[in-house]
Amino acid sequence: MARIFCIANQKGGVGKTTTSVNLAAGLAAQRQRVLLVDLDPQGNATMGSGIDKRALRHSIYHVLIGQAGAVQARVRSEAGGYDVLPANRELAGAEVELVDIDERETRLKTALAPLLGEYDFVLIDCPPSLSMLTLNGLCAAHGVVIPMQCEYFALEGLADLVNTIKRVAGNLNPDLTIIGLLRVMFDPRMTLQQQVSEQLVAKFGDKVFDTIIPRNVRLAEAPSYGLPGVAYDKASRGAQAYISFGSEMIERVRAL
Ligand code: ATP
Ligand code: MG
Repeated sequence: MARIFCIANQKGGVGKTTTSVNLAAGLAAQRQRVLLVDLDPQGNATMGSGIDKRALRHSIYHVLIGQAGAVQARVRSEAGGYDVLPANRELAGAEVELVDIDERETRLKTALAPLLGEYDFVLIDCPPSLSMLTLNGLCAAHGVVIPMQCEYFALEGLADLVNTIKRVAGNLNPDLTIIGLLRVMFDPRMTLQQQVSEQLVAKFGDKVFDTIIPRNVRLAEAPSYGLPGVAYDKASRGAQAYISFGSEMIERVRAL
């Protein structure tokens, strides 16, 4: 059965989508069967997987409001070697429409259930908010991966996210745990980043993943080609870091 992980951080532009897409491709490269769920109306994970978000017949929006099954909406990322439940801006409407729907926090969980036997990993790319969409992600997941930049304000935002995860675990999804904090866009030449990185390890111990994702321009270029960085330039430092991160995830999940 698949293990389900949210890639979440309510801060914008911290590397959630880059992590989702490249972890999916990195795991697929290690023969894991992966489903990537794009839970962000920006549709960046969809586009970054080489799927045109403007040409979708069904998307995760239709799945959440009950107009399509997950099987109908699912598409293959040939570039990445994994499957995708894609999204586009229509998904922004779900936020409002879900308010009137029963069991609105667990729509995604219910929709994914029939697919879980087909995958080893389900990864959910969350939007930059603690919204109903993110809540659906957190209710469906076994754990949360938190990508973060080692910057001064990073720790401040983290407290809100950790509290939200605790609240969801207390009320809606007792399974939910933080799998780990992933340091991304790391530049070892910046003293401040080194310091924040040390603070993170001091405070969160082995919740901090060993793998560090460096700042690497190849990862930033890849989406404009509709490719995960891991497929665009596998030898690049960024791609190699995400492949290592895939191995680390496989290890952590085995230990769960
Ligand atoms: P949002 O909150 O808008 O969904 P996000 O948290 O998903 O953003 P990304 O879209 O993954 O963040 O990354 C933000 C920007 O930083 C993108 O332009 C991406 O290409 C770039 N980026 C992410 N990771 C790296 C990296 N390791 N090295 C260089 N650039 C990176
Ligand atoms: Mg994103």
